[in-house]
Amino acid sequence: MTDLYLGGSWRDPVLGGRREIHSPADGTLVATVAEATGADTEIAISAARQAFDEGPWPTTPERERGALLLRVADLLERDKKDFARAESLDTGKRIVESEYDVDDVVACLRYFGGIAGTEAGRVIDTGREDAISRVVHEPVGVCGLITPWNYPLLQASWKIAPALLAGNTFVLKPSELTPSTAIMFMRLLEEAGLPPGVANLVLGAGAEVGAPLAEHPDVDMVSFTGGLATGRLIMASAARTVKKVALELGGKNPNIVFADADFEAAVDFALTAVFLHSGQVCSAGARLLVEDSLHDAFVDEVVRRAERIRLGGPFDLDAETGPLISAEHLAKVEEYVAAGVAEGAVLRCGGRRLPGKGHFYPPTILDECHRSMRVVREESFGPVLTVERFSGEDEAVRLGNDTDYGLAGAVWTQDAGKAQRVAGRLRHGTVWINDYHPYVPQAEWGGFKQSGVGRELGRAGLDEYREIKHVWQNVRPHPQQWFSG
Ligand code: NAD
Repeated sequence: MTDLYLGGSWRDPVLGGRREIHSPADGTLVATVAEATGADTEIAISAARQAFDEGPWPTTPERERGALLLRVADLLERDKKDFARAESLDTGKRIVESEYDVDDVVACLRYFGGIAGTEAGRVIDTGREDAISRVVHEPVGVCGLITPWNYPLLQASWKIAPALLAGNTFVLKPSELTPSTAIMFMRLLEEAGLPPGVANLVLGAGAEVGAPLAEHPDVDMVSFTGGLATGRLIMASAARTVKKVALELGGKNPNIVFADADFEAAVDFALTAVFLHSGQVCSAGARLLVEDSLHDAFVDEVVRRAERIRLGGPFDLDAETGPLISAEHLAKVEEYVAAGVAEGAVLRCGGRRLPGKGHFYPPTILDECHRSMRVVREESFGPVLTVERFSGEDEAVRLGNDTDYGLAGAVWTQDAGKAQRVAGRLRHGTVWINDYHPYVPQAEWGGFKQSGVGRELGRAGLDEYREIKHVWQNVRPHPQQWFSG
């Protein structure tokens, strides 16, 4: 067992718990891992606290911390096949997608490793000859990192890489559904020479081992990626000790297609936007907004192609997408589709789970939707596309912004001016023009409104894990005699 990594050693949980991980594709047992409790989280936090307070990691030169990230990237590349396989077994996603994910983790590590030592704060012009003023960066302290199951290692790396570069120590709590690559990654950090106690891993249920990370007074920051309801709980718990909070929550992302869009490209990307990884993507383009005059031809073609998407297990080379993560999640997706139909949506394809042991749900399209429907407002996080009509730029923007979320969106048009105008008015953290899904680690990722707080990736993604300190020095101190006595 010994899957918990606490204070630099591999340990069994205090209460000896275990959890079975089953493949979402066929229900087979793929792993048995440790199941921690609050007692293990307490040990992890105190190890991270000690490693932060006593060093040496927080005061190790940033370039050395960056060099460690680059070493980990090389090790991960060496072990890419093993990591991809483990990710596919846990999540059910196609092996080729898991391999892309590992490449993205490598790119994230190399980005943060590569910017190490390139800046050391700012020198301020005080306007005085006798004073020097510097603004410098310091690590925040002990970070609690809580991550979801859809991109298990990738989401963790967006937190781990900047947290380590900035000199923090951390406790990682991956999703209890997909723990395998987190365990493997801790071994790589160990192999790369990370000092004991800097990285700690607890495995288990959110309420049991995740919640203490948000509540504990010895944790200085909590960074969470997951659902909105959990995010609200975490933010409320963190308020008690006024922790720094970074939240990457869900999205209900509009994919806006104007009548003058490149038809073939827009159809193709409308499918990728929502059906990639069976819709289990926070930035999924699950709300298709189509200009009225294009609606019928466009939706007919999207439906025709969606019906041909092949589903299968992670190692089925003919499969184009995979299963949903769990039986509970499948039931939730079914419920959203039923609610949409009950509220008047027209079911154009899919809408019925596939028989068998895996949690398979086919690409599903609900046409003639309107923005008051639950399936339009809430995140189903499954392969469900809702279609709404609009007419003209203003209505496209109004509908695109009519959501509590604000993570991502896209606009399709061959009119460059219109594309820029619409992109400028959309209240979302990422806007794609004539594209969907690409991102680079150099550019910030995150949400407006209820899609989150703070940013991951890019320079701002590093700043989340830094405190800013102003250091003022009087180089010619002498009595000021403000008070005469
Ligand atoms: P979730 O909120 O159920 O769980 C996320 C993590 O939080 C898991 O590790 C879970 O164990 C933990 N958790 C659960 N309850 C907790 C509690 N009370 N205290 C502390 N931790 C707790 O989300 P999920 O189902 O794993 O992931 C899907 C959600 O994640 C979707 O809503 C999706 O949009 C979102 N997501 C967002 C992004 C982004 O970048 N914005 C990326 C990926 C996923």
